[in-house]
Amino acid sequence: MGRDNPGVVIIGAGMTGILLAIKLQEAGITDITVLEKKESIGGTWRENTYPGVACDVPSHAYTYSFAPNPDWSSHFPAGAEIHQYFKDIIERFDVAKFIRYNEPVTACAYDDATRRWTVTTERGDYEADLLFSATGILHQPKIPGFPGRDTFTGHCFHTARWDHSVALAGKRIGIIGTGSTACQVIPELVAMPGTDVTVFQRTPQWTAYMEDRPFADWEKARFARQPWRMQLIRWLSSFVYSRGTAALAGDGVFDRLTHRLMAWNARKLLRDAVTDPALREKLTPDYQFGCKRVVITSRFYDAIQQPNAHLVTEGIERFEPSGIRTQDGTLHELDIVVLATGFDPTAFMRPMAFRGSGGLSIEQAWEKKITAYRSMFLPGFPNFFLMLGPNSPIGNQSVIEISETQTRFALQLVDEWRAGRLDRIECTPAAVARWAAMIREKVQHTVWASGCDSWYLDADGDALTWPFTWNKWVAMMAAPDFSDFVARDAGD
Ligand SMILES: Cc1cc2nc3c(=O)[nH]c(=O)nc-3n(C[C@H](O)[C@H](O)[C@H](O)COP(=O)(O)OP(=O)(O)OC[C@H]3O[C@@H](n4cnc5c(N)ncnc54)[C@H](O)[C@@H]3O)c2cc1C
Repeated sequence: MGRDNPGVVIIGAGMTGILLAIKLQEAGITDITVLEKKESIGGTWRENTYPGVACDVPSHAYTYSFAPNPDWSSHFPAGAEIHQYFKDIIERFDVAKFIRYNEPVTACAYDDATRRWTVTTERGDYEADLLFSATGILHQPKIPGFPGRDTFTGHCFHTARWDHSVALAGKRIGIIGTGSTACQVIPELVAMPGTDVTVFQRTPQWTAYMEDRPFADWEKARFARQPWRMQLIRWLSSFVYSRGTAALAGDGVFDRLTHRLMAWNARKLLRDAVTDPALREKLTPDYQFGCKRVVITSRFYDAIQQPNAHLVTEGIERFEPSGIRTQDGTLHELDIVVLATGFDPTAFMRPMAFRGSGGLSIEQAWEKKITAYRSMFLPGFPNFFLMLGPNSPIGNQSVIEISETQTRFALQLVDEWRAGRLDRIECTPAAVARWAAMIREKVQHTVWASGCDSWYLDADGDALTWPFTWNKWVAMMAAPDFSDFVARDAGD
């Protein structure tokens, strides 16, 4: 105990929580507790087991930088393989010993007198000097309140709560949504024997084509012999995605040209893939390319043109016992409804009673606006690190890269604090206000504010995503500006 070997609690044992445990242990900290609400690690890759679940960034980029994996089966491996990667990692890096399962955190409270956090789970209390929330950004399913949903007599479940006891073959299946997840599920459902699949689309999506390909055994052996090949794929992938983000967020001539090229390519993809003009019209977005998250798929357009697939663009009026009635009065009779309706990206570490210094609740702190300095820090919440907080999602970039930049940033602050050069790790109110103003000003000039309804913006039109380029993120997260943090002895 003490600053040299502080007590650390990490909430959540997904990709980010595991990363933190590894890096904190490497920094010489041994008093680490990872509290995971479920019975196993893996977060996203444990929860999402729907047919077709897979990575949509190349596997060698969706890998910890310090733990390359020559054995990835393909460029876009299935969710179960990614889950296994993380299971192997916790053994290989000896962090399994820190994880406590079936411990849902229900409350966290900072005590100004002891300068420690009390973290409460259903089983008891834990004390911590440093608290990390790694509860994920796409974790709490968003389920719109469709009238009459409870009256439906068939099966109805969210993609993140897939009911594997329900047989799909031969069934009339409705799927609500056409985002990234839906575009992974739909081809699988359409390909199952005897299914009839009705897709309820609220908004069409722009897509980008990336075909998967299994790696041959000789390629895997070569990755193991020549790790630089994995690094190259990683670098290329990061470069391509960062160019994509620059095209959406940047305002240079080259950025605008790249955006036009990407938009032209997406239109061409749709034109070439979908032969029926009426269907193509329905699938054509009326907003700019990139305003919503671009769906990476090589199979959706083909699937939606199969005889057993139907695209419905009429709005949903209500659920009825035998199916879904749309606003044109049609009743679509269904056995199963799949909700591919996404997640609440602002739920962060909730539901949880979260209180900082002086009893300040997270609801009070975020009463006016959900924001966090450098996406991680909140005034009034000392020694607390919000991983993947507001403004951290960056285009289609690998989220592992984002968590790694945040972890490095956090560790620099932890080092300063351990050395006694920071009184506590807490940003100043001025720093977070400046940050929020910077985000607000910039988002107006990006494609995200060009007039579509997306989870990248909040209700006021402020960005939840990062409205700048990837390079700017890397630069911002390279090193803390200590003047933005509460100085030694200040305010005590
Ligand atoms: C369907 C889907 C596909 C995706 N595909 C990609 C992709 O291809 N590429 C990409 O870069 N990203 C992708 N993502 C984003 C993905 O969420 C991140 O890549 C990554 O998994 C985030 O890891 P995490 O640990 O931060 O959060 P999560 O994986 O969500 O893990 C959070 C953990 O915290 C635990 N937890 C939450 N609340 C509590 C609590 N109160 N108490 C205790 N434990 C708690 C959860 O049980 C969970 O284990 C995808 C997301 C989804 C939903």
